[in-house]
Amino acid sequence: MNRKKFILESLALSAMPGLLQQCRMAGKHVIRGQISGANSTIGHLLRDPAVTGRKPDEIIETGTLVVGGGVSGLSAARRLLQQGRKDFILIELDKQPGGNAACGSNEVSAYPYGAHYIPLPNNELTAYLQFLEECGVITGYDAEGLPLINELYLCFDPQERLYIHGYWQEGIIPAFGLPDSELQQIKRFLAEMDGFRKAKGADGKEAFSIPVDSSSNDEQFLQLDRISMHDWLLQNNYNAPGLHWYINYCCRDDFGTDYRQASAWAGIHYFAGRKGLAANAAPQSVITWPEGNGWLVQQMQKKIAPYILPGTVALNVDTTGEGVTVKVLEVATKKIKAIHAKTCILATPQFVNSRLLAADDARKKTIADHFVYQPWMVANITSRKLTERSGAGLSWDNVLYKGRGLGYVEATHQLIGYQGPKQVLTYYLPLTEKKAAEERTAAQKRSFEDWVSLIREDLLAAHPDFDEMIDEVDVWVWGHGMISPQRNFIHGAVRKQMQQPLAGKVYFAHSDLSGISVFEEAFYQGLKAADAVLQA
Ligand SMILES: Cc1cc2nc3c(=O)[nH]c(=O)nc-3n(C[C@H](O)[C@H](O)[C@H](O)COP(=O)(O)OP(=O)(O)OC[C@H]3O[C@@H](n4cnc5c(N)ncnc54)[C@H](O)[C@@H]3O)c2cc1C
Repeated sequence: MNRKKFILESLALSAMPGLLQQCRMAGKHVIRGQISGANSTIGHLLRDPAVTGRKPDEIIETGTLVVGGGVSGLSAARRLLQQGRKDFILIELDKQPGGNAACGSNEVSAYPYGAHYIPLPNNELTAYLQFLEECGVITGYDAEGLPLINELYLCFDPQERLYIHGYWQEGIIPAFGLPDSELQQIKRFLAEMDGFRKAKGADGKEAFSIPVDSSSNDEQFLQLDRISMHDWLLQNNYNAPGLHWYINYCCRDDFGTDYRQASAWAGIHYFAGRKGLAANAAPQSVITWPEGNGWLVQQMQKKIAPYILPGTVALNVDTTGEGVTVKVLEVATKKIKAIHAKTCILATPQFVNSRLLAADDARKKTIADHFVYQPWMVANITSRKLTERSGAGLSWDNVLYKGRGLGYVEATHQLIGYQGPKQVLTYYLPLTEKKAAEERTAAQKRSFEDWVSLIREDLLAAHPDFDEMIDEVDVWVWGHGMISPQRNFIHGAVRKQMQQPLAGKVYFAHSDLSGISVFEEAFYQGLKAADAVLQA
């Protein structure tokens, strides 16, 4: 088989679920499953002149081409339609839009492959609130203007627990068995975060805002972007091991990044950026579905479905001449097409853009030098009811103190009335022990059995009957899971520079341009790019 044929065929395979596999841990019970995930075939494809150099079989004309059907691309497309534009196309390489918010399912439940929840929405995000109203997440407003959140989508009790010192405590802020001195430090830390949540800069803007771009430029806050979260803790006399574990957990949870690498500005934003209040829910409540944010992705597609071309990979972007020409590969037919548009929105991560805009060497170098993407492994584990240790019962979020991963979310928790014998647990592991590139290479080499043993090692202390009760493990590896907000990235010049449109006709929309990868930021990046196109 020649190289081009090999790449095209493996690309078609990459869009399908992985091959079925099985393994045994201790004992005879067989654990079935597969490894899936965005693989490196796409990267090879974008670099292969045998594919990118092929002449198009067809030319398509449109007003605006949106590349990428993650939350940011869908948000851009929705905005274009809302504003009366109908001459646009959205292309997505996968069979289904969704990107990092994609989901899967089995006979027990739907489950997420990535994003699982949104927090209560910040109350001034008008367009975002409108979207949540449109899809029935917000059902109305009280006399004070606070949103009423649909009870079906608010996380049911119990929300979270932590396995610490052999006991499941309620809540994930460590407390059980910690000395009073540590508890006092945690209390002081949370009070300080509360101060940051309310803080404003000399420019009158909130110190920590969503979107990140609306935050204050006051130097007293910007300087926090120049040190790591770990160093900031020590500088502020926070040395309690329990607090350090918790803050590192938070940075790994939201940014896939160790707190020695995450900037203190990003680390504090985790606590201070979310300010949403609701009429019928406590401030730290979460909004979630069995399939995670895959549910929101389905809602976003409703009106724009006719404009979406799934299974279509952008190969390169040419800005010479009038408008923009994007060469694409239609995966099912293996046809090469050229889409000629007046304007183009790249809702793809910058490491992909550096290949799409391959002629721009300076851009390529800047992206390689400054944009770090953390790999993740997410495993959906189908099990019969696991034996529980003492303390709080199974909750939506179940975290293990000093565990290797972040613990697991019970996807079946939000299935109303579900009382079946099985449950689906979504286990999250940000790969943060080595440099991102090394972790990516190591992750690609791990076998199904390697991943299952790693999860087993992490969960066995809390669930001693793991070997007998786990039936299926659906492993998903994200090579470039999310942008890492390392020091000087969020408030550095490069992030802003990369947001600038190219030649007045290529606009950028991915959440990596926010420096923090969350639904609201992806939604905002899409709106911003679409508004710029509408004004062009
Ligand atoms: C494991 C994990 C857990 C997460 N959990 C949460 C959570 O609980 N809550 C939360 O708010 N956020 C979470 N996130 C962050 C999540 O990434 C964002 O919320 C959001 O979904 C990002 O959307 P995006 O459009 O910016 O990017 P992406 O999701 O990366 O979308 C980019 C899209 O472009 C497509 N694409 C790439 N190259 C091409 C090409 N050449 N041609 C055509 N299409 C292309 C991709 O297939 C993809 O669909 C999580 C992320 C990960 C990895």
